[in-house]
Amino acid sequence: MKIFKTKTELTTYLNTFDSEKSVGFTPTMGALHSGHLQLIESSKRECDISICSIFVNPTQFNNSGDLEKYPNTLKADLRKLKKVNCDIVYTPFIDDLYAKGEKAKEFNFGSLAASMEGEYRPGHFNGMATIVEKFFNIINPTKAFFGQKDLQQLQIVKALVKQMQSDIEIIGIPTIREGSGLAKSSRNSLLSANAKTEALLISKCLNFCTENKNLGISELQKYIKSAFEKSRNLELEYAEFVSLNQMKEIKEWEAENQSAVCIAAYIYGVRLIDNIIL
Ligand code: AMP
Repeated sequence: MKIFKTKTELTTYLNTFDSEKSVGFTPTMGALHSGHLQLIESSKRECDISICSIFVNPTQFNNSGDLEKYPNTLKADLRKLKKVNCDIVYTPFIDDLYAKGEKAKEFNFGSLAASMEGEYRPGHFNGMATIVEKFFNIINPTKAFFGQKDLQQLQIVKALVKQMQSDIEIIGIPTIREGSGLAKSSRNSLLSANAKTEALLISKCLNFCTENKNLGISELQKYIKSAFEKSRNLELEYAEFVSLNQMKEIKEWEAENQSAVCIAAYIYGVRLIDNIIL
């Protein structure tokens, strides 16, 4: 496994390969878990060369406390990537990607970025798209792998490649969960065992929606709100029912469109998100 700290080393190495070879790219912020590894394994299956980046991108954090708290486990991450036979890891320092004082670029993703993460984390998607566009321009992968865990991000990245007029194929990978149902997240490492048990309410509410779709959206919304009100340490930020293709709020199921329920909640100051496609 090759590890590069600069884009120059990375691209020089990539240029030694036959241009016919397919390149799979998985961007991550590290603190890797089996959800991330699932993306790399898909890349390994589908592409000749698999690259994983580990970079905690400052421009996508609207809250500096969240950025400072973000777990850093590089040594363990590299061991995990070696185990799944990742070919290349790119772990740049910030100045390899951003000029001094550079801010996020302004994108227009319309309704895709207006609600949920776009509403509660202002600037988040501009920061995310800024770094993903930079990575895509450096690596020019054949396919790039993203988790459905960050559903809105996945839909925005699909829109980004269209805006870039790029033919990079964006592959969405279903959410990997712990046996309990809790979605795997780097942030779970900040939670005690008890907090993780309490956080199960999120996936339980999502499953309730799948199993009781016939109740209709407003009843399901009431159910989720009241379940969170009863919980002691979980604070619901949003529970939104949206159309999958536009990430726009829906009040009723749409026969012609798939829908998703997306939840964001805080537990002991740790922000968790999860969703389910219905
Ligand atoms: P992050 O390091 O949190 O930025 O995540 C890097 C990539 O891994 C993103 O595309 C995430 O959607 C994906 N990912 C994170 N958690 C999971 C999970 N539990 N299952 C599948 N993919 C995930």
